Amino acid sequence: MMFSYVTHEVRVVFGAGTVTRLPEELERGGFDRVMLLATASRPDERAMIARLSGDRLAGEYAGARLHVPVEVVADARETLARLRPASLLAVGGGSAIGLGKALAFESGLPLAVVATTYSGSEMTAIWGSSDGKAKRTFRNTEVAPRLVIYDPELTYGLPPAVSAASGMNAIAHCVEADYAPEANPVVSFLAMEGLRHLARHLPTVVASPGDVDGRSGALLGAHFAGRALDMTSMGLEHKLAHILGGSFGLNHAEAHAALVPWVTAWNAPAAPATVARIAGALGVADGAQGLVDLSRRLGIRTLGELGFAPERIPHAVELALGLSFPNPRPVDAEGVRWILEQAM
Ligand code: NAD
Repeated sequence: MMFSYVTHEVRVVFGAGTVTRLPEELERGGFDRVMLLATASRPDERAMIARLSGDRLAGEYAGARLHVPVEVVADARETLARLRPASLLAVGGGSAIGLGKALAFESGLPLAVVATTYSGSEMTAIWGSSDGKAKRTFRNTEVAPRLVIYDPELTYGLPPAVSAASGMNAIAHCVEADYAPEANPVVSFLAMEGLRHLARHLPTVVASPGDVDGRSGALLGAHFAGRALDMTSMGLEHKLAHILGGSFGLNHAEAHAALVPWVTAWNAPAAPATVARIAGALGVADGAQGLVDLSRRLGIRTLGELGFAPERIPHAVELALGLSFPNPRPVDAEGVRWILEQAM
């Protein structure tokens, strides 16, 4: 056995009620004059975080949006120039965190995160940005959050459909990390523990929103998934989700959720060991079918229900074939069409 991997330095604080430790954690990490980044929704939570940040707060920008549009980055850049912060604090899911990474890249400022969805973005040095025509992804260890706080009590307000979709997004990281070219025993361990936790706890999160154990288990799964994603390159599933989000305007997490069982099924002949490990983590005989069943149980919407018209499939196929990325099975037009048709 021979392998190598790199992880970036990050302090992770996990557990119910840990958000109240924000003041000491900011101090400990040297996060001064923080610029708070969030989406426009949930002003109460923003106010709570601002209060906890106390006199370390330089100000806030609450215009983060899905897919990190370039115009949002430009707008936030102006606020940053006005506030002149010494550090960044993103609160929320991948949208707020992605904006934090884009600003961290431009400014060189350190980024702290309070993570409130299951997308796993808080553990990676990867971010995307969209210009309305396409979404591009970047990777740079300098932008990786240096402090991550996970408090399951902050996720109670996350609507069940958002929880389910962002959890399936994390499951997509687990699947694609396990068959990535950089995969190794550590990646596989993280990916399959992530999958096991998410598959076990997401149904509870959706059915019993106030169950703190379910929330903790799913967040832990998302943490493992994010770590696995950070150590690997993603394949066809992630590229298709980015195409559907960046070029056709679909919600990122919901696109992943609709796609992941079908990409797994299509890749299965070329990734039998991964599909067997998925089956083991899910406790079923067939890993790909297990993901189909899980997504039905979670009420995941199909691409058709998300508003993706079948007439657009040829254009999506063309965009996918124009990209280069690692994937266990060589990608062809017929395969991409099959996946999109199944996911409809
Ligand atoms: P999101 O950040 O867009 O959040 C979804 C919605 O839920 C938003 O309206 C948000 O305001 C709201 N919300 C967030 N937390 C909440 C809470 N606790 N209670 C109530 N409402 C809450 O969703 P997401 O799926 O986490 O992020 C999607 C974005 O993240 C995409 O742009 C995607 O590309 C990116 N992403 C990046 C990575 C990475 O490693 N770079 C990984 C996964 C996703």
